[in-house]
Amino acid sequence: MARIALFPGSFDPITLGHVDIITRALPLFDEIRIAVGTNSAKNYLFSLEQRIAWITETFADEDKVKVVTYDGLTVDFALQEGVNFLLRGLRNPADFEFEKAIAQANREMTPELETVFLLTSARFAYISSSIVREVFNYGGDFTKFVPDAVKP
Ligand code: ADP
Repeated sequence: MARIALFPGSFDPITLGHVDIITRALPLFDEIRIAVGTNSAKNYLFSLEQRIAWITETFADEDKVKVVTYDGLTVDFALQEGVNFLLRGLRNPADFEFEKAIAQANREMTPELETVFLLTSARFAYISSSIVREVFNYGGDFTKFVPDAVKP
């Protein structure tokens, strides 16, 4: 059976932290589907089309990476997509506590779906999409935190 991982997130915008997790997960899986959230209750800074375009360009040369969009519960979408793994990145203890609760709730709902965590590389551990948005909003240089494709 093919090992397919879903990497869900807002990617508002994609950062070098996300790229690090995806790149390092590639040898572990046959395919990684980056699932871009379209939660109508969330106020994204960048449009869905823009977020998808940046991810697609970043992984244009990587056949094993696909980009999909979803709304609703991640586990429901994962089942619908027929994937067997959820991929998440961990930066710090706060991420761990948050992700642990979500992963345990997800396992309770969907035991057949395994969540796999990768620790972020130390040099990217401080990067978050929210910091990038803050720097962007105040006209600062955010290019150090994002892949080359991200040019608003
Ligand atoms: P969400 O809205 O689900 O928090 P994000 O796009 O912020 O979406 O994050 C998606 C995933 O990427 C999460 O697993 C998050 O922990 C991980 N992630 C975000 N930033 C980094 C980073 N700098 N290093 C490693 N993983 C990261």
